[in-house]
Amino acid sequence: MEPFKLTALFRLRRESWLYFPTACEGGMQSLKVFDGKGYDFAVLHWETCHVCRVGRIAKIRVTREWQRRGYGTRMMLRALRGCETYRRSTTVQSDDGRRLFTALTAATGIGFPADYRACEHIRTSRKPESPRPRRERRPPMVLAATAYRRRTATT
Ligand SMILES: [Zn+2]
Repeated sequence: MEPFKLTALFRLRRESWLYFPTACEGGMQSLKVFDGKGYDFAVLHWETCHVCRVGRIAKIRVTREWQRRGYGTRMMLRALRGCETYRRSTTVQSDDGRRLFTALTAATGIGFPADYRACEHIRTSRKPESPRPRRERRPPMVLAATAYRRRTATT
């Protein structure tokens, strides 16, 4: 079988957003942003359990020259899509990561405490993300947060 060629997806594009779905409940999901040469300059790894309605941000990285351009926020808002009301936590401890979560909490009202323990599904899922990503549109930065506030304000 022909190996899946990621590089074929990047030709003639300034940036490509790829979502790697999980292979099981509570398993790892990823969002990666690639430049036109196939370098992933922004990466987010997270786990979501729809049974327990919890999520955990496992890792976030934005290469320095791409920082402060909204990539972290866009990736986080994409990860929250469809599970905005779930309890969240993070294992991210880097200064860059903490700054991002502080800004994101201010913008969305969603907290990311570092002390919350993940549920059994997340703790026991050992399966990696799916090796078959799908291309996505660049996630909106403001609209998703606005939609979240509107939704919670009416409930
Ligand atoms: Zn669970």
